Amino acid sequence: CGIVGYVGPRALPEVLVGGLRRLEYRGYDSAGIAVVDNGELRWAKKAGKLANLAEELEAHPLPYGTAGIGHTRWATHGGPTDVNAHPHTGIGREGNGNGRVALIHNGIIENYAELAAELAADGLHPISQTDTEVVALLLGREVSRGFSLAEAMRKVCRRLQGAYTLVALDADEPNRVVAARRNSPLVVGVGTGENFVASDVAAFIEYTREAIELGQDQMVEITADEVIVTDYDGNPAPTRAYHVDWDL
Ligand code: GLU
Repeated sequence: CGIVGYVGPRALPEVLVGGLRRLEYRGYDSAGIAVVDNGELRWAKKAGKLANLAEELEAHPLPYGTAGIGHTRWATHGGPTDVNAHPHTGIGREGNGNGRVALIHNGIIENYAELAAELAADGLHPISQTDTEVVALLLGREVSRGFSLAEAMRKVCRRLQGAYTLVALDADEPNRVVAARRNSPLVVGVGTGENFVASDVAAFIEYTREAIELGQDQMVEITADEVIVTDYDGNPAPTRAYHVDWDL
């Protein structure tokens, strides 16, 4: 039910868990984060309160990382378990059980069963009961075919039905976060030498008040100093930039 993504110099685990805490008021049943560090995906996820995730991170700290994503889940497909918690880590890298792509999702993918059947025919099987993991597997398949994460996201989104805010990481593009939306909110927080994406400005308001609201069926790529918004065909898309002037 809450989403945050970050690229910049700050300690990722702290920015991500802090952002999720700001979104906690919306309710959730599980939480997780993933970061890219030294070309590898690292993640932690836990059913239950954010405190459970924080405890896990204290016992097994994650590195600072270069880009990362964080999620609080309100289960719609599959019960609130550690395995069903996001991020879901898709395939994409030979011989590495940890995968290459990590994905978080708020919403519902209505045609996930049909997509899962297609993946199964290709020998790809989810390990969770979520609709989300099917999208992670589709993304992983596209990047392993040589597409960039942004291209993969565009191709996959064109096939999805339902409601989603999706945010993804690719261990092979360690300084980038890619996000897309349909029927579900997504805002960019524009900083200096750092950028954010979130389901709600509350997640990044302590760092920046410059925001860009994404429109329906738009996608964004952020790096530490770039924000690129396109439609699902890759054409530059119009955006609405605004200043957040209210207090929390
Ligand atoms: N449908 C997804 C799931 O059940 C996402 C739920 C959410 O919006 O948090 O895992």
